[in-house]
Amino acid sequence: MLDSPVQQIKDRLSITEVLSGYVQLKKAGVNSKALCPFHSEKTPSLIVSPSKQIWHCFGCGRGGDIFEFIKLVENVEFPEALRILADRAGIELRKPTAQEIKIDQDRNVLYQINELAAEYYVKVLWESPQASEALNYLRQRGLTDQTIKNWQLGYAPDDYHYLENFLAKSFDKKDIELAGLIIKKDLPAGRQATAEYFDRFRGRIMFPILDAKGRHVGFTGRILKPQDNVGKYVNSPETPVYSKSKIIYGYFAAKRSIIKEQKVIIVEGQMDVITSHQAGFANTVASSGTAFTLDQIMELGKHAKEFVFALDSDKAGTMATTALLNTAKQYSIIIKIAELGEYKDPDEAIKKGMHVWKDIIEKAPHFVEYFFHKALKEFSISEADGVQKIKDLLLPLINSVDSSILRSHYCRKLASALGVAEASVTAELQKLGKPEFKQLPKEEYRKKDRLEWLQERLLGLVIRLKDKAVLSQFEPSDFGAYANVYTSIYTSAQSPELKTAFDLLEFGVQTEIEAQGLDAKAELASAARELKRVLLKQQMEKVSAELKSAEQQKDQQTVRKLSEEYVGLSKKISQLQS
Ligand SMILES: [Zn+2]
Repeated sequence: MLDSPVQQIKDRLSITEVLSGYVQLKKAGVNSKALCPFHSEKTPSLIVSPSKQIWHCFGCGRGGDIFEFIKLVENVEFPEALRILADRAGIELRKPTAQEIKIDQDRNVLYQINELAAEYYVKVLWESPQASEALNYLRQRGLTDQTIKNWQLGYAPDDYHYLENFLAKSFDKKDIELAGLIIKKDLPAGRQATAEYFDRFRGRIMFPILDAKGRHVGFTGRILKPQDNVGKYVNSPETPVYSKSKIIYGYFAAKRSIIKEQKVIIVEGQMDVITSHQAGFANTVASSGTAFTLDQIMELGKHAKEFVFALDSDKAGTMATTALLNTAKQYSIIIKIAELGEYKDPDEAIKKGMHVWKDIIEKAPHFVEYFFHKALKEFSISEADGVQKIKDLLLPLINSVDSSILRSHYCRKLASALGVAEASVTAELQKLGKPEFKQLPKEEYRKKDRLEWLQERLLGLVIRLKDKAVLSQFEPSDFGAYANVYTSIYTSAQSPELKTAFDLLEFGVQTEIEAQGLDAKAELASAARELKRVLLKQQMEKVSAELKSAEQQKDQQTVRKLSEEYVGLSKKISQLQS
């Protein structure tokens, strides 16, 4: 019998290899440690065991194998985690259905066409004399040759049919048109054209656009020499694989860094993304247009708790910021706005020096703070009109702050800036009503309760010490979600499907016992005692509730029976304590 795909994947991919793509692993004896990406912490409590191929976090209690990790970190369900890891391990999964194959093939053709076009543009950039000006331009903008290659920047020759003819050798023109690379001529009836199609991108520096999985979905073409009636930028049209409102430029390259830092830097242009990455800020992305959509915010919000918007300091930048805030502020994300000051755009600041950009990002103020400065600079508080404008701008922003401490901080600040009583600002704010905050669909950090912790600890110690005697005083139901583990140990049944659970339970106690120098046997005894006590207390609460209702119904017989039971339970508890 063949191994299951899950086992095949586990055989091929080591846990350290998979996790190190998302967290910084540090050696700790035979294991490794990392800061947990699933809860915020300053000292590492996520432990990885390479020999057992499992991980466990002592902070939030999460743990499992590589599949569990990918599920959580990529925010996907098991089938998608399986697909991601199968891809990485080079293992083919089940045969897809005919319909799936058809959709896949249709999309695959579009990815392939875009990818081949990207390769073509790259070749032109590096080899054609026609592109030397474009290459010089990119170098003058401060990009290294390696960066130009990494981002697959290219050049579309200034001709109507070069790309069409090149791609037509391998693909159908209808598909090339569907991919958005050539345009069908729209001629009046009766007129004959020498060619049916022409290239969309001509005489432009080409930035390939990849989706979150690194597939080629489209392009942005930037003109080299400004011309009348010609846009500075031309984008691929919407296609079955390219949706402007969903694609985030640079996301594929930035994703791991965003997960590691839990922070994303959002800039406006492709060039800004590339130079920011080159300067060491690999968590930088850009929206495809000027507006940032809710879809894009939600996608980034899966991994980032903090958004730093670093948009061009012209009017468009300000407008984009305001539009952005209207969606982003509804979600409890920390939003900061980088102040570019004298610099026109991020690219210009980065060119001035890496430290300049680093400073701008690190000192980026909270968005309310940002608009405070802006409003007080723009409007005069000595005129009634100015005061009104400041109030109109700032009150809704202050009202959208989630934290009540920060809200009252800004109220005080606004009152003192305007020279009015704080109470009048608070009163105005109350008129606006409290906004509702939506949570991004991210799994909440759930702290384990004591009962669950004791169940895991006891079973882990039993497995570790290979001593199941202590289990005889319990029943399967005492172990909640681990009832099957209890039964399997207690009856010495072979349960291959529980192997990971066994490993995890043992690994959890083992690392803690080693780290804290505890006596495993003593820990086992005390865990058993405490679990017993917690279970007895739960039972007493249940009996006490039943007793109350029996008393209300004046059911003397049941009352007597339950009272006896209650006394019995409390005796058992006091015996445990002695
Ligand atoms: Zn954790």
